[in-house]
Amino acid sequence: IKKIGVLTSGGDAPGMNAAIRAVVRAGFYYNLDVFGIYRGYEGMINNDIRKLDSRAIAHVLERGGTFLKSARSEEFKTPEGRKVAYENLKSHGIDALVVIGGDGSLTGAHLFYKEFGIPAVGLPGTIDNDLFGTDLTIGFDTACNTAIEAIDKIRDTATSHDRLFFVEVMGRDAGFIAINAGIGSAAAAILIPEKKIPVEKLIDRLKFREKAKKESNIVIVAEGGKSGGAAEIAEKVKKILPSYDIKVTILGHLQRGGAPSSFDRILASKLGVAAVEGLLQGKYDVMAGIINNKIVFTPIKRAIVDDKTVDEEELRIAGILST
Ligand code: ATP
Repeated sequence: IKKIGVLTSGGDAPGMNAAIRAVVRAGFYYNLDVFGIYRGYEGMINNDIRKLDSRAIAHVLERGGTFLKSARSEEFKTPEGRKVAYENLKSHGIDALVVIGGDGSLTGAHLFYKEFGIPAVGLPGTIDNDLFGTDLTIGFDTACNTAIEAIDKIRDTATSHDRLFFVEVMGRDAGFIAINAGIGSAAAAILIPEKKIPVEKLIDRLKFREKAKKESNIVIVAEGGKSGGAAEIAEKVKKILPSYDIKVTILGHLQRGGAPSSFDRILASKLGVAAVEGLLQGKYDVMAGIINNKIVFTPIKRAIVDDKTVDEEELRIAGILST
């Protein structure tokens, strides 16, 4: 392997820049050329590929987003699109890839390896933390910090007006951000897609807290929850508790932005170096992750298929803390 291509794909996540930088730096260390592929697989198809030098990665570690940009490419899902992408990589002499993204992006890397034999190491870059094969994904910690900071502010107004707030956090089909943000912000309840709580149980909890003279109530709702988003649940509760002053806040995309936390910078840096070293050691079609604070390579096939389950212990703790 002499030339590596690096790309970010799918939803952006804080720490992606730190991961790219680490890939480029490790590439230099091992005398490799590193090419930036812009806008994920779209750039691979459009030949938006440029060699990265040390200037390209100056002062990016601390920046949110991804300077390589990210995109979703429908064309890459077709064999014809992937053929064009392969020809473009070959025209630059790129013989291996580091793909930073979520399960869709890693699926693309896996298919590409199977079809064209281009070795790839994936890095888990998503705020959702929904990838098997790593305890934490790049961007998750920052997103939780951002959510908690926002919820702290919401609590000030909730307390001043004795309001009940339903705050919706991101996470797609996974409740990881909701659980962390909920524990970290003393939520009255946490509603996640993995564990449906009947509205009656939530009402009981709220009434109990009212008796206990709690000054504010914040319920964290994960988007995509089986019982509906924050607005839907708030509507149901309003019908049963009409005297409550209920408000809904959807945190939305602000959770994706901002400078990466120290944890994400370090995680991304470690994984970026691991990706390059993994490729040089012949570890192909794998995702580099962190388990019990050790770098672990998991076959991409497992990372995208196997389910990462929520931590029951965290849920139990959240339950104790909110009653
Ligand atoms: P996030 O978790 O943040 O949404 P993601 O990587 O899962 O990130 P997707 O939109 O699912 O985001 O995938 C990103 C890109 O990966 C797609 O636009 C597409 O180019 C490629 N991709 C996804 N699924 C496939 C597939 N089955 N075959 C080929 N390429 C795919």
